[in-house]
Amino acid sequence: MSSPSPQPDPLAFEKPWARSAAGANTLDPESPRSSPRVVPTIYERTTASALAHQAINLGQGFPDTEGPDWLLELAAQSITDPSSGPRNQYAPGMGLSELRASISSAQRRRQGLDLHPETQVMVTTGATEGISATILAFAQPGSEVLTFEPHYDSYGACVALAGARMVGVPLRGPEFRPDVDALEAAITERTSMILLNTPHNPTGTVFSTEELGRIVELAKKHDLRIMCDEVYEHLVLSDAALPHRSILTVEGAEQVAVAVGSAGKSFSVTGWKVGWVTGGAELISQIRGVKQFLSFSSGPAFQWAVAQGLEDDRGFFARNTAELEAGRDLLREGLHDLGLAPNAAEAGYFVLGDVSGLTSLSAVDFCRILAEEVGVAAIPVSALTIQHTAQPMDELQRLVRFAFCKDHTTITEALRRMREHLPAALAAHPAHERASEPAARR
Ligand code: PMP
Ligand code: GLN
Repeated sequence: MSSPSPQPDPLAFEKPWARSAAGANTLDPESPRSSPRVVPTIYERTTASALAHQAINLGQGFPDTEGPDWLLELAAQSITDPSSGPRNQYAPGMGLSELRASISSAQRRRQGLDLHPETQVMVTTGATEGISATILAFAQPGSEVLTFEPHYDSYGACVALAGARMVGVPLRGPEFRPDVDALEAAITERTSMILLNTPHNPTGTVFSTEELGRIVELAKKHDLRIMCDEVYEHLVLSDAALPHRSILTVEGAEQVAVAVGSAGKSFSVTGWKVGWVTGGAELISQIRGVKQFLSFSSGPAFQWAVAQGLEDDRGFFARNTAELEAGRDLLREGLHDLGLAPNAAEAGYFVLGDVSGLTSLSAVDFCRILAEEVGVAAIPVSALTIQHTAQPMDELQRLVRFAFCKDHTTITEALRRMREHLPAALAAHPAHERASEPAARR
């Protein structure tokens, strides 16, 4: 098995841009260490590769349908109809008051939370800006930031940009449950933050109330801040063992934790980039200290439409999860028949396949062959790890992330291509050896 693209330790670089790029595994491994080049994110590279090879894109996590018509019309109206209010000039830095009120009332209905719309809700340019602002607010230079690994790429970029060190706590199959004892053992006197993601990308794990409660206790005990990324809060599938619970439902969590949400994921409008951070007034005010100098504010027309969508989703959330679940079932069944031992994938957009039942190649090589010779693009999970500390034989090197937030005919066609072309494409690779032990029995 070949090792993953080697990325240097982000903190070995003096310049913030290089630290940020190395933190998200986006320094070109072919470029000289003394003058490294930045490549696009794993998501953009995968989409570009899909286009170049006319491959079906099961890589980047965006739906291939539009959001609901009524929501799109509300945004369009808001831009062109002055009677609905001025929606083409700066929104307030904290977001439109209508949206802050809707986020607060939606969290009351869904999670029983009591968030003051003026002080405990901050609208951001996508969840991405909320994540960046929170990490830059609390991860002081020289500190350590803990996260379960694999993890979303932007966390690594922001931690490194802040001059802090990312420390991964393994989240491993087949169950992909967070090991809170291991998290506790990783805390040192330098730890400043814990980054959580529930429901989790890419594993689909939904954290339990007990797990969240223990993590909040640890944060209080060691005076740490928690950023809990909850962008998939509306995308928990019906057979999930646990419902989504926000970190803020844990007693006293608002002293140490904030939650991050995204309209892009909730309403299938990923391009709108409307997100939010919620939590205790003191932490929100501190994060504002960073957020208002990142984008200041954005997209009032989109904010206006999302405000109404959160007040009344007109059945969209239930329809969307039913549709996603049917796509997940279709993809899981196909991956299982191919010998890729899919995980349970109880929430979000993604299912993981294990290549080791089919080949000795790494997931990186597998994904290259899949895109270039089979016509299906997917993401090697090693792209979502801390690569400079990665163990070459770690099971994350064998996992591939497939997105099921796609049209069902698209998923069916991807599976057909894999059934018809994958065995020969793998066999033609000089380093391929058929695995002796099926992944399912590991
Ligand atoms: N966090 C996770 C776990 C994600 O998968 C994504 C991608 N939607 C984001 C954050 C970014 O969300 P947004 O597009 O709202 O910035
Ligand atoms: N969240 C999406 C994913 O995980 C990608 C977002 C992006 O391209 N930045 O695939």
